[in-house]
Amino acid sequence: MQPLLDILAIAAHRDDVEQTCGGTLLKMRSLGLETGILDLTQGEAGTRGSAAERAAEADAAGRILGARWRQALDLPDGRIENSWENRLKIVRVLRELRPRVVILPYWQGRHPDHYTASTLGYEACFVSGLARVETGSSPHRPYKVLYASLYTDVRPTFIVDITPFIEQRNQSLMAYRSQYSNAEQGSALFVPEEEIRERTFAEARHYGQLAGVRYGEPFVQKEVGLVEDLMSLPVASM
Ligand SMILES: [Zn+2]
Repeated sequence: MQPLLDILAIAAHRDDVEQTCGGTLLKMRSLGLETGILDLTQGEAGTRGSAAERAAEADAAGRILGARWRQALDLPDGRIENSWENRLKIVRVLRELRPRVVILPYWQGRHPDHYTASTLGYEACFVSGLARVETGSSPHRPYKVLYASLYTDVRPTFIVDITPFIEQRNQSLMAYRSQYSNAEQGSALFVPEEEIRERTFAEARHYGQLAGVRYGEPFVQKEVGLVEDLMSLPVASM
């Protein structure tokens, strides 16, 4: 069966992917790969904007990121649970899209939705490969599971250089107007565009610096790296 996507990014909330791996999705798209985004919740717990507004914003952001596919599941915002039922919801998506690479949130963090989405996503990837679990479409297990680690202070396994895509990534985040525009309503709670820009660029600069590039996004993989040629290893030691 032909895969619909090369890479699927799964995250708890709309706008998580934009912040943690949006530059990477843009870069992979520029290499000709097909990318997609699965948001697990619809954002109904947010202080600003309705779920419907956020759906329209997520569509706009996905288009800016060049994603071929974007949908949101209906898991309750703020209380994502790693249940069999929820795993199956993700399995159905994985078997439909058949991505080779899946990007998940890192498995530790402050927000329970983030680390729960990580474990839930991992277990869904595993279950998706089991033939005895029937969903009406054939089993599919991704080749590679990667963890976007921006929200966690953990040493990344590798950095993706997103320097040429940082402005476009910022535009995708700014598509969430109900969350991020410089409106009066709830202004004590929400930072305006300039502050978000400063924070996200500083984070990208920090991770870029670790790898000797300008702007980067951090990832962790559980597997070791495999090297053929010591002469072509990137990132200078000194
Ligand atoms: Zn989130």
